[in-house]
Amino acid sequence: MPTPTCCRTLLAHSPSAEVARCTCGHIHLSLGPMTIRMDEDTLHAVWHTMGDALRALASPPAAPPEPAIAGRWKQ
Ligand SMILES: [Zn+2]
Repeated sequence: MPTPTCCRTLLAHSPSAEVARCTCGHIHLSLGPMTIRMDEDTLHAVWHTMGDALRALASPPAAPPEPAIAGRWKQ
């Protein structure tokens, strides 16, 4: 029995990013040459995190910034 192939539907794109929904249920987020596969809940969580980052960039820091530590997010 043949394995069903994935088929992507483009949801949004810009010069720097592209988001597509796959028939297997994943969301594919492409940034330049890199594509990250995630579920829809993770896409929402990433979107909120990006918004938090943009708000933080737009306002002056009240305290010294927290050092970035790799590997703190969970998938
Ligand atoms: Zn797929």
